[in-house]
Amino acid sequence: MRVWISVDLEGVSGVVLQRQIKDQGPEYEAARKLMTLEANAAVEGALAGGASEVVVNDSHSHMQNILPELLNPAAVLISGENKPLSMVQGVEGASAAFFVGYHAQAGTSPAVIDHTYAGVVRQVRLNGRPMGEIGINAAVCGYYGVPVVLVTGDDAVVREAQELLPGVTTVAVKKAFSRYAAACWHPERARAAIRQAAQAAVQRLSQQPVAPLQLAAPVRLEVEFANTAMADAALLIPGSLRLDPRTVALEHPDYLTAFKAMRAMIALAEEGA
Ligand SMILES: [Zn+2]
Repeated sequence: MRVWISVDLEGVSGVVLQRQIKDQGPEYEAARKLMTLEANAAVEGALAGGASEVVVNDSHSHMQNILPELLNPAAVLISGENKPLSMVQGVEGASAAFFVGYHAQAGTSPAVIDHTYAGVVRQVRLNGRPMGEIGINAAVCGYYGVPVVLVTGDDAVVREAQELLPGVTTVAVKKAFSRYAAACWHPERARAAIRQAAQAAVQRLSQQPVAPLQLAAPVRLEVEFANTAMADAALLIPGSLRLDPRTVALEHPDYLTAFKAMRAMIALAEEGA
């Protein structure tokens, strides 16, 4: 049984400020180590729960944050950027997915570094429902028939996960007070809780399967940007239309195509901002 793990950085215990998640500096170096060790806790839990194979997909920023030498040797690491499925690369063929170190969607408060894929995005809606990275990525997992069985991060992302994914196991490793402040568990306590929850989530799968998140087709994607110039740029995507001055919409029978269109819209918007 293969368990696939997407690991982000904003939801790791001890991480609260922007300078910890940028790609250089001593605070970033400390944060990426915390990230690697939380990933290990999830790997260990998956193995203890019965996984025979574990894949870890580095899912933050340029996606080369996890320190390979510190990662549990049982795991295969997907590292680096321009992956066709981005934060969801490698999920195909897995029996279960974990989201570790995740954060709440843009516009959530209090929530540590809330955002949805990029700072240019105010909100993403799929079939009319606001979705953050949990929802957007869980729907890619669902496209491949893979259920998300574990989500870890702050208390805000845990609430978001519980509303969206029935049967998911969650661990809140910190309680948010604002966008840049939280009460954090000690890293060792966070890792112990993640290990335990990961093991339980995998063990539970055999008795109580968790349903993958599957969106009804055609999928309607709506991306509301921070300003109109970003929407101007995103409208270059073939088949897209302007819903309102800041919002670009696209409908497609295939969710994977809509997901890729969303990422292309965001890349264009970042250029056009
Ligand atoms: Zn991130």
